[in-house]
Amino acid sequence: MSTLKQHILTTPYGAYTYAYPHKTAYRQLPPQQLSDIWKYEDKSQLFLYLHIPFCEMRCGFCNLFTTVNASASLESEYLLALRRQATIIKEQLGDSHIAQLAIGGGTPTYLSPAELEQLYEITDLFGIDYANTPSSVETSPATATVDRLNILAEHHTQRISVGVQSFVEEEVKSVGRPQRNSKVFSALDNIRKAGIPILNIDLIYGLAWQTAESWLFTLRTALEFQPEEIFLYPLYVRPLTGIGKEGRSWDDERQELYLRGRDYLLEQGYQQVSMRMFRRGGSPAGEGEYCCQNDGMVGLGCGARSYTRQLHYSNEYAVGQTGVKAILQDFVQRSDDDFAQVHYGFQLDDDNQKRRFIIQSLLHSSGLSLPLYHARFGSLPMQDFPQLSELFLLDLATERGDRITLTAKGLTYSDAIGPWLYAKSVNNLMHGYELK
Ligand code: SF4
Repeated sequence: MSTLKQHILTTPYGAYTYAYPHKTAYRQLPPQQLSDIWKYEDKSQLFLYLHIPFCEMRCGFCNLFTTVNASASLESEYLLALRRQATIIKEQLGDSHIAQLAIGGGTPTYLSPAELEQLYEITDLFGIDYANTPSSVETSPATATVDRLNILAEHHTQRISVGVQSFVEEEVKSVGRPQRNSKVFSALDNIRKAGIPILNIDLIYGLAWQTAESWLFTLRTALEFQPEEIFLYPLYVRPLTGIGKEGRSWDDERQELYLRGRDYLLEQGYQQVSMRMFRRGGSPAGEGEYCCQNDGMVGLGCGARSYTRQLHYSNEYAVGQTGVKAILQDFVQRSDDDFAQVHYGFQLDDDNQKRRFIIQSLLHSSGLSLPLYHARFGSLPMQDFPQLSELFLLDLATERGDRITLTAKGLTYSDAIGPWLYAKSVNNLMHGYELK
């Protein structure tokens, strides 16, 4: 690890560590049977994730596994493959219970209402008790229609997340998203009327043309809909226009916008859950706060990851349209035997399990619990990673009681702290990955 100070100074926006290790560290593995992989795992509280890799447009900042302009036949072939995969996985898992459900993408509501019903027939295979299972679905302003939302509400969706990014049309257009506010307002009205308890709105800062004033305008407009959650994402793909004002660096601009946004939300009664996530005071915790240090995750579909304690696996990954389409074609043609096996992923040794635990805990406002770490690994984080003391020296973290938590400054630098904790071998794999 380089020193944390170096990391912060040179790359305050190193990477968004939403999962460790990142998928670009995954590689081909010798085939393993799913039933063997899950044999000794706790399957009583599983998280089921379904990935729908279709969108109406490709946003310029997006590096998720998704495709645009999919044909109706590809969608139906995909749903058929998903059903086959679900059947096989359920068999291979044996006795198991789904405690949380998330449907993401892509844009799940890109599917027609009839296809969404088919999607729930697939989740039915896992015997989900929808009324008592927290669930989350992603949507977009163009596809959050009353008929689709009614289907989500009928299945007791607890949380819906919509990517708005900005309420200034020119700013959103700069990242390849020609979006009309009238459409966004009607989507947000539809979501509120559908009675889904938690609304999350995703917003982005660092956009072309964005100023502190326009950013606050976007935040104020979002709050008119009283969302229970707001995610503030820094833009990671540098825009070609409208930046570098007054000779300041893009990092400085993003940091100023972050601080303005954070302070505004705190003033308005929101609580900070992580660098990106804010929750309105008194709102319930939804799937957005799912903590997966210990629990198993079962992913269905192209682009979905699955986690056991020692193995993370998925399909191959791509962002470019040719690569995505090739992986999708392969997925819909996979045999049942193929679905019962894992070919691609990352085996976590003890060191990487510890790093994962620390990263996932530390970047969340609830922090790193020393007793929980000790119960899992039989040691303490500072013994395993003495470098963590730098966090205290730089005023990025405090230790209180049995917990290490990031300070406000630490949360601001989450995107430097996360990558600083990656293992060298993981960094090497990520750098050696050829993005398709
Ligand atoms: S709608 Fe979401 S998943 Fe689709 S391209 Fe845009 S950001 Fe990516």
